[in-house]
Order: sequence, then structure tokens, then C-alpha cells
Amino acid sequence: MQTYSYNVERDEFDALLFRHAHELGATTLQGINVRNVIFEEGRAVGVRAAADDGWERDLFARVVVDASGRRCLLAKQLRMKQKDADFNQYSIWSWFRDVAPHPPGQEGMVFFHFLGLERAWAWHIPLRDGVSSIGVVTDKADFQKSGKTPEEFFDSLVARNRTFVHVMEGAKRTRPWWIEADYSYQMERVAGPGWLLVGDAFRFVDPIFSSGVDVALYSASFAHEAILRSWEEGREDAAFGDYERRVNEGVDVWYETTALFYQLQQLFGRFALQRDHRADVARSLQGNPYDPVNQARSRRLLSEMRSAYEEIISDPRNLLRPGALDPAGTRSSG
Ligand SMILES: Cc1cc2nc3c(=O)[nH]c(=O)nc-3n(C[C@H](O)[C@H](O)[C@H](O)COP(=O)(O)OP(=O)(O)OC[C@H]3O[C@@H](n4cnc5c(N)ncnc54)[C@H](O)[C@@H]3O)c2cc1C
Repeated sequence: MQTYSYNVERDEFDALLFRHAHELGATTLQGINVRNVIFEEGRAVGVRAAADDGWERDLFARVVVDASGRRCLLAKQLRMKQKDADFNQYSIWSWFRDVAPHPPGQEGMVFFHFLGLERAWAWHIPLRDGVSSIGVVTDKADFQKSGKTPEEFFDSLVARNRTFVHVMEGAKRTRPWWIEADYSYQMERVAGPGWLLVGDAFRFVDPIFSSGVDVALYSASFAHEAILRSWEEGREDAAFGDYERRVNEGVDVWYETTALFYQLQQLFGRFALQRDHRADVARSLQGNPYDPVNQARSRRLLSEMRSAYEEIISDPRNLLRPGALDPAGTRSSG
């Protein structure tokens, strides 16, 4: 079994994809801001594009694919964006040098730190040239209650985990803080006459399992297939309808896995350590939940995890229950 996944650095990876599209014959424009999608009789027919130097014009196309990321250009234009009521996160992160090296044999691996809070966790992702991306995710209400600045809040979360403290002891921040909040959402529709949404412009799930690039790449690939099929068969609504189902069914698996993680973080560690489940946990987190075999495996695992969760929750003596080791709530985020 493949026991690893890939860690791509987005600046190089995105430049590579862009160059590849150009080499395959796509007309590529950089530094252009799409202001809005143009509709004629309910059908998307192009975009209004502008550059900083005043250049501005309408560009027409047979199909418009919105890949504008969390700016969600078309979803906002059509008022289709639905914020997720269950995930109300707040994230702060930056790049650091001089963090403690990973233990021998684990160089290059992505680390997650648990912070003893039900809805919080931290990531530590090594990048090239000795730089690491390090960030924390927490419930937005915990940040608001704390009365701290974002940096003080970050430091207070680091202090909750001794390993994390050790990692950050000599760390020097090399970029400004990035802050992102309320970022989980989905859309009422994913495709319509002459248009499709892909990547974050289509849906965003909390990043705990690094599903974002998986969603972006697979949805783009499936959108490509749907467009070709619609041209071959002349039935755009059928091809685009199938696209919508396919991508949503896959991302539902990411979503449900994430929701279960937030219900009980320890559950994942427990299943990952069990010989019977270890391979399924690894395979599920490697991605591509759109594939029927992968989807069935992940759904089976989720079902077993939910049963385990019910057992844990219904037993007042089970120490895996949230807060079981802190009945007085003394380990709050403050
Ligand atoms: C805190 C956090 C941590 C994350 N960690 C991970 C992780 O570890 N692993 C992972 O896989 N994913 C992670 N993600 C998610 C990941 O970043 C996204 O899912 C992924 O970048 C989506 O790719 P995309 O191409 O859809 O959007 P983007 O990468 O955002 O690209 C959108 C592009 O569209 C351009 N654009 C936007 N609007 C316009 C416009 N009007 N005109 C012209 N161009 C426009 C933007 O400039 C940008 O270049 C994380 C996200 C967050 C918030």
C-alpha cells in the first residue's frame, strides 16, 4: 500500500500548471481581473475583463468555468453562496524559519498538533529552503472571547502543546500574518447554462485533511470531461448535472470526515493506530473520494467511526469523551 501522499508548493505548482496549459495551446492572460460573468438570455457567454492599465473588454466563450477560488466570483454574482452554519472557524498562519527540525526519519512530513480544544488544531508544513508554514485553526468564538490580538492568540495556542512549544522555540516569522475566518461554504448550484464552478469557487471544506487541492484538481478534470461530453452529445444539462452530482458526492465525503473529526479528534488517532483500520484511514485521507471504490471504502470507515463515537459518548466512564479529562473546563482557550 502507498503510505504517503504529496506535499506541493503552490507557487511552483501553479506556475507549472499555467505554463503547461499555455504549451498545450490555451490562450493564457496574466494580470487580468474578471469583473463579472456576462449572461445573455440566462446563459453565460463570456466575462468582462480588465487590466490595471485601463485595458478592459468583453471576452466571449462557449463555456465559462469559474476557478476564482474563495473570491467565488460567479456564486456571489448569482447570490448562490451558502455559508456553513456548523463550521465557524478562524485561522491565523505565517511562514517561519529556524523551527526545530523534525525527528530523524520524519523530515519533510506534515505535522498536526492537537491543542486540547475540541475545535482547534495546528499545522506545521515544511516548505523548501528551511521555511515552514505554521498555522492554527480554532472556533471563531474562542478567538473573540479571548480578548487577545491575533498574535497573542496564536502564542496562547502554541503554549497548549509541549511539542508545539518545542517546535516554535527559536522560530522567526518571515511573512506577515495571514488571517482567514468563516471560510466553509457551499453553493446552491454548481453548474448552469454555459457555466461551471471548480475548486474553491465551487465549495470549501475546512482544511484539516488538506482536501483543497484534491477538490480543485479533480473538479477541474471532471469539468473538462463534462464540457467535452456536452459538446459531443449536445445535452449540456445532462453532462453538467452529472458533474454537479459527481463532485458534490465526493466532497460530501471530505465534509463528513471533517465533521466527525471535529466531533471527536481522538477518534482518528485511535482508528489510525488499529491494524484493521490503519490502511483504510490512510487511503481515505489520500483523496479522490469521487472514485466509487474509494467512496465506498471511506463511507464504510465513516460508518464504523460513527458507531465507535456513539459507544464512546454513551459511556460516561470513557476517557475519550470530549472534556472527559477536564470535567471542570479548566483548559479553556483563554
Ligand atoms: C487556512 C487554510 C489552509 C489550507 N491548507 C491546505 C492544505 O494544507 N492543503 C490543501 O490541499 N489545501 C489547503 N487549503 C485550501 C487550498 O488553498 C484551496 O483549496 C486551493 O487553493 C483551491 O484552489 P483554487 O484553484 O480553486 O483556488 P485558488 O488557489 O485560490 O486560485 C484562485 C485564482 O483565481 C484568481 N482570481 C480570483 N478572482 C479573480 C478574478 N476576479 N479575476 C481573475 N482572477 C481571479 C486568484 O488570483 C487565484 O490565482 C487551505 C486553505 C486555507 C484557508
